[in-house]
Amino acid sequence: MSEPLAALRAALGTRVRVNEPLAPRTTFRVGGCADLLIEARRVQDLIEYARLARAHGVPVFILGNGSNILVRARGVRGLVIENRCDQFSLEDADSAQAIVRAETGAPLPGMANRLARQGWAGLEWAIGVPGTLGGAIVGNAGAHGGCIADSLIRVTILDPSGAVRELPKTDLGLAYRTSRFKHAHDAIILRADFTMRRDDPTACVARMNQYIEQRRRTQPTEPSVGSMFKNPPGDAAGRLIEQAGLKGKRVGGVEVSPVHANFFVNRGDATADDVLQLIDLVRARVYEHLGVELELEIEIVG
Ligand SMILES: Cc1cc2nc3c(=O)[nH]c(=O)nc-3n(C[C@H](O)[C@H](O)[C@H](O)COP(=O)(O)OP(=O)(O)OC[C@H]3O[C@@H](n4cnc5c(N)ncnc54)[C@H](O)[C@@H]3O)c2cc1C
Repeated sequence: MSEPLAALRAALGTRVRVNEPLAPRTTFRVGGCADLLIEARRVQDLIEYARLARAHGVPVFILGNGSNILVRARGVRGLVIENRCDQFSLEDADSAQAIVRAETGAPLPGMANRLARQGWAGLEWAIGVPGTLGGAIVGNAGAHGGCIADSLIRVTILDPSGAVRELPKTDLGLAYRTSRFKHAHDAIILRADFTMRRDDPTACVARMNQYIEQRRRTQPTEPSVGSMFKNPPGDAAGRLIEQAGLKGKRVGGVEVSPVHANFFVNRGDATADDVLQLIDLVRARVYEHLGVELELEIEIVG
């Protein structure tokens, strides 16, 4: 272990884990280890761990629910902070709207569900998106015609200099499945404020149930990272992959899902290298057959 890592490990004490496997902490269930991993359950801890790592010159990677990343076999160098800060509350609620102030480790489906059942509309689309709020902001997650950018007001971040500051939505570069944070890893999103609209709880829950049912019919249930590629303008990546004859294509333990071709599924023994090979193969084949360059929606880390 390098000197800075050893010093950081000593500073973090018994809370930190060494050479911690990341596969069980991702929805794909593949990938190597983190040099160091620590869980943060309070925002103050998240800030403290990140500042300590930076003071020791050790890179930091924030892990949400690991549902939009592929961790390479060699794993992640430095400190992985697993964000488990999951508190959220309603503020300034009146008869028409409210602001939800949330910590970014909050699981999206749980948040959407609780708010909908209380008659707050705006996040129902997120019921089947198995990530944390932080990961969802980074990728401007969306589904069923809605996305994070629709109701986000502002975020609070720990910036690269170690300062805590607020940024309005307009400064976040939110666009289709991206933001200024994607691939940057220089800021940590600590909290986020959203606008919610008052609605009939029964109507909110009915919308969620409809989305859940739609997913059940169209998406596989094996471990995956959801959509592998972004949809090219005016088209669907899944349709293109299917048209290139790749539904069911397999490399080692990973397969282009026969249910939805933009999902790669882990058949139980997939490795990160299998997934990387299948990504290359699918991209090459789709380009060859249809002249379209598919862009990854997920992030490859490590
Ligand atoms: C079955 C399935 C269905 C899915 N359906 C959808 C869908 O309908 N729509 C959609 O958009 N996505 C979908 N996804 C993808 C994924 O769930 C979302 O992108 C989700 O928002 C990622 O959140 P996460 O917490 O898992 O992020 P992670 O995968 O843990 O992290 C993603 C990136 O965000 C960074 N990050 C996470 N938290 C923070 C933070 N607080 N501060 C700074 N950086 C941070 C990480 O470092 C990493 O770079 C699906 C995935 C699966 C497995």
